[in-house]
Order: sequence, then structure tokens, then C-alpha cells
Amino acid sequence: PENRGDNIRKRFLTFYESRGHKILPSSSLVPEDPTVLLTIAGMLQFKPVFLGQVPSSVPRATTSQKCVRTNDIENVGVTARHHTFFEMLGNFSFGDYFKKEAIRFAWELATKEFKLPEERVFVSVFEEDDEAYAIWRDEIGVPVERIKRMGAEDNFWASGPTGPCGPCSEMYYDFHPERGLKDTDLNDDSRFIEFYNLVFMQSNRLDDGSLIPLLKKNIDTGLGLERLAQILQKVPNNYETDLIYPIISFAADLANIDYKKADERTKTYLKVIGDHTRAVTYLISDGVNPSNVGRGYIVRRLIRRIVRMGRLLGIKGDGKGNPEGTFLPRISEVAVSLSPLVDPNVKDNAARIYEELDREEARFVQTLERGEKLLEKLMTDALSGKNGTEQPRLAGKDIFLLYDTFGFPVEITEEVARERGVGVDLEGFEAEMEVQRTQSQAAANVVKLTVGGAAAELTAKLSKSKFLGYHSTEGKGEVV
Ligand code: ATP
Ligand code: MG
Ligand code: MG
Ligand code: MG
Repeated sequence: PENRGDNIRKRFLTFYESRGHKILPSSSLVPEDPTVLLTIAGMLQFKPVFLGQVPSSVPRATTSQKCVRTNDIENVGVTARHHTFFEMLGNFSFGDYFKKEAIRFAWELATKEFKLPEERVFVSVFEEDDEAYAIWRDEIGVPVERIKRMGAEDNFWASGPTGPCGPCSEMYYDFHPERGLKDTDLNDDSRFIEFYNLVFMQSNRLDDGSLIPLLKKNIDTGLGLERLAQILQKVPNNYETDLIYPIISFAADLANIDYKKADERTKTYLKVIGDHTRAVTYLISDGVNPSNVGRGYIVRRLIRRIVRMGRLLGIKGDGKGNPEGTFLPRISEVAVSLSPLVDPNVKDNAARIYEELDREEARFVQTLERGEKLLEKLMTDALSGKNGTEQPRLAGKDIFLLYDTFGFPVEITEEVARERGVGVDLEGFEAEMEVQRTQSQAAANVVKLTVGGAAAELTAKLSKSKFLGYHSTEGKGEVV
């Protein structure tokens, strides 16, 4: 019970409270900062303080922050550790303590409070940060085999292309110490998981890319609650912690599936449903309704993924015998039941959340069903040779029409066609997708989704993202 997710959150906050930090509430998933679409880290609500624009009411704070990162969507259900929605635990110093104390606190938290065996904790420092390296080695006593110097990609943190940033030092947990200390690579996720990032926030990046020192040296940290829960609960991934698994197991029940016995693809679908259900529940609670623009578009895409995967898993209607009903509000109920200590407002907003989900799911199901009708017609045409081809075959442009206009999954088109002895022109479809991608890439670059200072790279990656379906031909219609 000590290691229940709710208790881990509480133990973290209490640990820092007893070290002079004020416990502050999570801020909304919709940040006040107009340059960022969604709250991607605990520091966002303190950005004006770090920049020296407003004074802090306290020198030290600690929070458990709701976050949504759409840049990780392609990893959801695929890696063991990435979500779109997750909670980031953090401790912050506003011009008060710096590297030495931050490192000491973090080490004590990990090895004393949460009793991680010292020999299983590895740390990284920014390659140029000799000071942090020396603190870990000389003051904490971490053997050099377990301290890695890493480049800016991993160890220089920023909330966006401009704004507060600095070198960081991360803590990793070793799941396989028996593999020894030779050639250890902290990015090898079959062995290590990053769980805590300590950012030594001392610079501000300006529009022209230059760095200027902040007036004060600050500490900004982030520890993934679901990741620490995975470690402490000794489960194979974040999804099987008590923070998310009840949602997954409920969805599996609706689909008449035994999660533990399911194949990997089925598990991935269920994990995506678990993750995205949390995301849309909290996003709608924070006032983001499905729409065609900005944040609302993200919610819409997440809901569509849930509905499509639910149908692929065989959930019909409400999953409880009513073919006209919807299942997403029911799954969301489980997310709401887990929410009180994450965000006390969700329960109060529950009725509104279910209503939005019900409406959006029903609308999307209609779209899918219209697509099914069109597919039926295209297939009849193909079989009767009306489309002019010799072999019955669905044209690339028709597969694209189904996919793009009707939101109809390519893998379903393909499967249905195969059953009827009709071929599919996937190359033609890919060509249409490519045109689409080039167009949406330009559009995507307008939206600033920012993590780690690589906004442009990130948006480019997003528009190329793939989803592991039967065929990885997902683009605009799939990934947010
Ligand atoms: P990773 O390298 O695993 O993608 P990150 O370096 O991008 O993580 P940070 O930006 O350093 O993550 O965020 C601080 C902490 O928040 C991480 O150490 C991790 O514990 C947690 N975290 C980050 N992204 C996610 C995510 N998508 N899902 C769950 N937890 C996350
Ligand atoms: Mg990441
Ligand atoms: Mg990392
Ligand atoms: Mg990190």
C-alpha cells in the first residue's frame, strides 16, 4: 500500500514539504503561456518566475503536475514508459538552493525515501558540467561507472525554442544489474528507465538563439509518477501500475479480452485506450472540447484513436449489449474514479466530460459507418469491373478518400477487401498520403508544440509519425 500511486505522489510531496517546499496545486493542462499549446512539464506555471518577470511568493515549491505531451504519441503503448497524459512530480527552487542541494535531495528521495538500491541508480550529467559530475562522485559517492556524461539532446533541458533552460542531470533505474557495468548505455530501454530529471535552470534562450544568464539560479525538476510506480510496483511497464491498469482492464472486459493473455498488438491497443482515455478525460475537464482546431483537434484525434481501436478489439456499441450506445464515457468513468488526488475538479466535471465523449464518439461512429457504406459500393463496383480495372482492385485514391474524408482505417479497408477477393493499391494510397503530408507539414509548423527546444524537428516528426497497425501507413488522420 505504501507504493500505491496515490501514496507515491503523497510521499514525494511530503518529502519536499519537510525540506521547506510549499506544496502547490497542479496548474491546468491549458497553460497561461501563449507560446505553448499544452502543459508539458511542471515548470510551466513558474516560467514567469524563472524569467524574473514576477516575484515568487515562496523560495521553494513542490507540485504534482498534470501533463500532456503529444510528441510522445507514437510511443504510447509501444515503449513501456511513454504516455500522452502523465503526472510530473517536481521540486523547484527560485533563486534559493542550487545543484548541490538538488542532487542531495534527489539522491535521498530515491535511495532513502523510496529505498531504491544504490547500486541500481545511474546518473547522467551534461558533458560540460564538471561541477555536477564532481558532486555526484565526491559528495554523494556514486562510482564513476554509474555516472555518464551525455550531450545536449539528453542533458540540456528547455521548455521550448526560447525561454528558460539549462544543463540537467538525470537519474536512471537499472532493471538488469546482472548485465554488468561494461558498455552501459542509459538510452537502452530494455535495461534502463529515466525517472528523474534535475534541471539547473540558469539561462534564457532569446529569439536569435543566444543564451543569456538568468538573474537567479533556479532548480526545476521532473519525476514521472507512473515511472516510479512501475519501478516500485515491480510491473513490466507504466501501464500495469494501479494508476492506469484499472482503465485498461475495464476496456479489456468490454472487448471480452483477457489482457494478461493477449498478444502484443492487442495489448498495445488496450494501452493506447488506457492512456488516451486519461488524456481526454483531463483535457475536457480543463475545458478543451473536441473541435477542428488547436487543442480541440488534439482531443478529437485522441478520441478517434480510442474509438477505432475499441472497434478493432471488437467492442460494439456501449460494449454492454446496446449497439446504439457509446463505450468511451464508460471507460472514462474509471479514469474519473481514479482522479480525486490527481485533480479534484474532474469529479465535478464528470457529467460534462461524459456528454462530450458520448457526442464525439457517436459522431465518429457515424462517420465510420458512412465509410463502410462507401467501401461497400466501391467494392461492388470493383467486382463488377465498373471502375475499369481488369483485376478487381481498389484504387489508391479511393482508399485515400475513405481514410481522409471518412476517417476510415486503412487496415480495415484492406481486410474487408481481402475477404472479398479485391486487391488494394497501397502504393497509390501512399502517393496520395505523401501529397497530404507535404501539405500538412506546412500547417503543422504553425503550431508550436515544444519540448526540449526542438519544436521544428518535433512537428516534422509528428507529421511523419506512424502507428503500429497491420500496416504502418498512418499519417494526418492518425497522429495528432
Ligand atoms: P524520455 O527520455 O524517457 O522520453 P524525457 O527526457 O523526454 O523522457 P523530461 O523532459 O526530462 O523527459 O521530463 C521529466 C520526467 O518526466 C522524465 O524523467 C520522466 O520521468 C517523465 N516523463 C517525460 N515524458 C514522459 C511521458 N511521455 N510519459 C511518462 N512520463 C514522462
Ligand atoms: Mg521524451
Ligand atoms: Mg530523456
Ligand atoms: Mg529527461
